[in-house]
Amino acid sequence: MKTKPVPPQIHIETFGCQMNEYDSELVRTLLKRKGYVFTEDRECADIILMNTCAIRENAHTKVYTHLSDLKALKKTRPLVVGVLGCMAQNLKEDLTNKEPLVDILAGPDSYRQLPILISNAMRAQQQGEKSKGLAVDLSEYETYDDIVPERVPGVNAWIAVMRGCDNFCSFCVVPYTRGRERSRDPEGIIEEAGQIAAQGFKQITLLGQNVNSYRSGDWDFAHLITALAKVPGVERARFTLPHPKDFPTSLLEAVAFHPRICKHIHLPSQSGNDRILGMMNRTYTRREYLLLVDRIRSMNPDIVLTTDIIAGFCSETDAEFSDTYRLLEEVRYHSAFIFLYSERTNTIAARKFPDDVPAQIKSQRVTALVELQRRISTERNREYVGATLSVLVEGDAKKSPLQAMGKTDGNITVVWNKTALPSQPGQLVTREIYDASASTLYARAL
Ligand code: SF4
Repeated sequence: MKTKPVPPQIHIETFGCQMNEYDSELVRTLLKRKGYVFTEDRECADIILMNTCAIRENAHTKVYTHLSDLKALKKTRPLVVGVLGCMAQNLKEDLTNKEPLVDILAGPDSYRQLPILISNAMRAQQQGEKSKGLAVDLSEYETYDDIVPERVPGVNAWIAVMRGCDNFCSFCVVPYTRGRERSRDPEGIIEEAGQIAAQGFKQITLLGQNVNSYRSGDWDFAHLITALAKVPGVERARFTLPHPKDFPTSLLEAVAFHPRICKHIHLPSQSGNDRILGMMNRTYTRREYLLLVDRIRSMNPDIVLTTDIIAGFCSETDAEFSDTYRLLEEVRYHSAFIFLYSERTNTIAARKFPDDVPAQIKSQRVTALVELQRRISTERNREYVGATLSVLVEGDAKKSPLQAMGKTDGNITVVWNKTALPSQPGQLVTREIYDASASTLYARAL
């Protein structure tokens, strides 16, 4: 009796942003269609794929560490190693010339070529040949519209509605690694949202590098998110990451007033100083940014605002840094992601501006902002003490299996005792807040 051939096993590791997590789901679906199987155990994998990120130093360093770990594994048995995503795109020369370990490089627009790249690499390895499969062309059209990613069951499902970015912020590699902005057709997105809701997901989060510049024919982002919030079964609709330049009144009204569109806007400011904002090519001034904050809050003061900040950008003086510090004091965000500037290869800033703020000063600035934001976040969260909030239950709390956790409409984490307050993931529950820290609200039985 003939035995069935055992399909090659793939292990995929994902680094970096949510878009990368989403792309790994796409890759998984694409390769499963071609008969590959996936394993969580990299020790028994025939193929190891690393879906990489070039935006932050941290993710970048982790990939190089993992690659050096794989050297030992590859010496013991046949193994195909592939680097996917932004690093494959941005560091292709480096990874092709200096990294003999890597067999495959595939940029974010080339995942459809992975089945052929993998089978070529496996064949070359069996024949004892050295080969490198390279697919790093950027596309003006690729949106993977026809591939519905295989999602891990849960409460929230991500939907990428657009890819790429045309903004060319001077510190950012995305326009070079993910190419020009392109949006999916709304019909496909709405159909996908319907399937997601039928699978039991309660929340959808619309994803894109500059998600609110979505445009397909007459459809803008406000039109799209409002249509998605009406899909039966969708309890909540969120979005990330928006740019402050793309908030027309229609979108502000949708967020402020639509009951199923979450009252949370992540509004990356990056700096509070006009000269630095100009160098970053952010296309708004401090004043314009603050006017937008005022408009948002005048429409609905309950909208939670969060942000991203870069400290120590090229030539940032103490006085310019103080403008950023004061911006945090003035806006009083609920939370902020605060990063130290690290130069990324091939960006405008890397080509035009010396990375001249000493590392120690950068660290001091980050520490000052983190401490300030922690104080503000605690004060902000304490404003909820005594309030009764609607919470979407996600599952067990990270710190204790005796506690459950969920998120408010404004995306703030709430935890409670599971025995005192039983709940199921996906349920919308009401919780009374009795205490708060910088990152968490604590609830008890009403
Ligand atoms: S908006 Fe700016 S920071 Fe965001 S992805 Fe585009 S270029 Fe990068």
